[in-house]
Amino acid sequence: MRVSSRLGRLRPYLFAELNRRRDELLARGVRVLDLGIGDPDLPTPDHVVEALCNAAYDPETHRYPPYEGTSEFREAAAERYARLGVELDPQSQVLAVIGSKEGIAHLAWAFIEPGAIALVPDPGYPVYSAQTLLCGGDVFPLPLLAERGFLPDLDAVPPEVAARARILFLNYPNNPTGAVADLAFMERAVAFARRHDILLCHDAAYLDISYDAPAPSVLQVPGALDVAVEFYSLSKPFNMTGWRLGFAAGNRDAVAALAKVKNNTDSGQFTAVQRAGVAALRETDPEFSRRMLGVYRRRRDFVVDALNAAGWAVPRPPGAFYVFAPVPAGHTSASFSTMLLEQAGVVVSPGVAFGPSGEGYVRMSLTTPEPVLAEAIERIGALLRGERKELPRKG
Ligand code: PLP
Repeated sequence: MRVSSRLGRLRPYLFAELNRRRDELLARGVRVLDLGIGDPDLPTPDHVVEALCNAAYDPETHRYPPYEGTSEFREAAAERYARLGVELDPQSQVLAVIGSKEGIAHLAWAFIEPGAIALVPDPGYPVYSAQTLLCGGDVFPLPLLAERGFLPDLDAVPPEVAARARILFLNYPNNPTGAVADLAFMERAVAFARRHDILLCHDAAYLDISYDAPAPSVLQVPGALDVAVEFYSLSKPFNMTGWRLGFAAGNRDAVAALAKVKNNTDSGQFTAVQRAGVAALRETDPEFSRRMLGVYRRRRDFVVDALNAAGWAVPRPPGAFYVFAPVPAGHTSASFSTMLLEQAGVVVSPGVAFGPSGEGYVRMSLTTPEPVLAEAIERIGALLRGERKELPRKG
């Protein structure tokens, strides 16, 4: 059996060694606390679950869904953007995707080919670079540095790189740094994409999770529809990661190109899930979103304050549900993650897993119930104070 050589272009899975050590601890009966994954722990709102149940009993939903998404779902998506002041034609400027991960992955297949470059945030969600490499393209990393508010310096992209670039990937509020971009940055990014004839792909998975002020959509920039496509995900705002639903919105040609790849790849998301998505987009009380933001804000403040009190200087992120913390002196992101796992039984993600500029950081996810977060922070504090404790056992 010979697998495609393109798989050899993917970086080794950096969580593999950490996962192996975690599994060893679990096998020894240790109570491991996982702050590694960003996956909301609270349930999907009831009205969304009920919409799914009702839709699942309707035999109309049992047949193949329309490839591009149901008209109703695309209209509800357009209404979501109308609330931001962005007018979209649901037929030509919106496309349902099976979670934004799927949409982003297939967008690369529509734009990247050997010789082409994708400009990719570093650190960043790994799908942007992995899919670029699978398509035979090259990745040009855009370092996100704390001193620049984790915004890339687009002026530093060499002209010969910009000339070969097909996609500029951006993601704000940002995973893993928790940074939020303002509209002025989005305007500069749109101008850059226009100047170099590049598609700007904005991954807005955390659009609704911004603590100080609403985070902008790139589509709010005048003229963005000429050059940009944005991926909106229902996963995080409605606690629906398992449901696999989102949409691409923006430039017609980009939406059509993505639809062409998808029409030849998948057959769309279950219509009943799309009807539930309509309920989420149209019928969710704004109070639910405020409550969720309040939950993450309390967790963020608790973690940041407690770690600072324990002597670990950790900044307070303005968005998303991650704390991106510089590791103490003398550690790398991998050595510190390994120490937290083996000596405190706490899983965090090494920053370097998100790209070379993530070196020197670890990411902690706030999608964990408060008592678990409190125990994790307690254990980390004890470790930082040099108190060695027996790792607690399960049950
Ligand atoms: N984009 C970013 C930055 C993410 O962190 C994630 C998931 O964690 C996704 C996209 C994928 O979201 P979805 O559940 O819509 O596929």
